Amino acid sequence: MMLPTHAFAGMVIALPYALVFPEFAPVALLAGFLGGVVPDLDLYTGHRKTLHYPVYYPGAAAVAVSVAALWPTPATTAVAWFLLGAATHSVADVFGGGLELRPWEATSSRAVYDHHNRRWIAPRRWVRYDGSPEDLALSVALAVPLVVALEGAIEWLVIAFLGIAVAYAAVRRILPAVASRLIGDLVVPNASSRVLAYVPARYLDLNAERGSTQSR
Ligand SMILES: [Zn+2]
Repeated sequence: MMLPTHAFAGMVIALPYALVFPEFAPVALLAGFLGGVVPDLDLYTGHRKTLHYPVYYPGAAAVAVSVAALWPTPATTAVAWFLLGAATHSVADVFGGGLELRPWEATSSRAVYDHHNRRWIAPRRWVRYDGSPEDLALSVALAVPLVVALEGAIEWLVIAFLGIAVAYAAVRRILPAVASRLIGDLVVPNASSRVLAYVPARYLDLNAERGSTQSR
């Protein structure tokens, strides 16, 4: 699922708490937002492994939410909803597509890495790929209660991310071609091996595929 969907999910889960404890609402909602976003910061270094913990985040979140319910402070609230947002993100990725460059082709058997059992969890593909029409529909459905319930800067944050979701869904299927063009034509010929080490393997593989097709 795309980043806005995860961000909205983290916020929606924090919404009931925010309504019950309005004094902690901004902390809970922003923590939920960040928890939804942060796992995907591993996009270029071990994507869906380095910052995705589908077993450990839920365990830690269960403890942190219990602590925040019994002892509500800004710090316990922030930790609880951040961890719950990150847990929801890591588990939700199992129900999306795989790690391949074009996830709608459904060729990858890797969705999220399970550190506890040291194995990759296979994608369920209920949402076929990030930025798919069903992903956008999910994003909109999650954003509606947020836009209705919230106001001010945090409501504008939701509206801005909704705009990003619509734009991303609109261009999603041409992104691999754009990326391979940029990386194959501009980055690979000009970059040092140190820079190339940061280019995800799926882009380099695709470039090799293109090269072999052209030489045939
Ligand atoms: Zn993710």
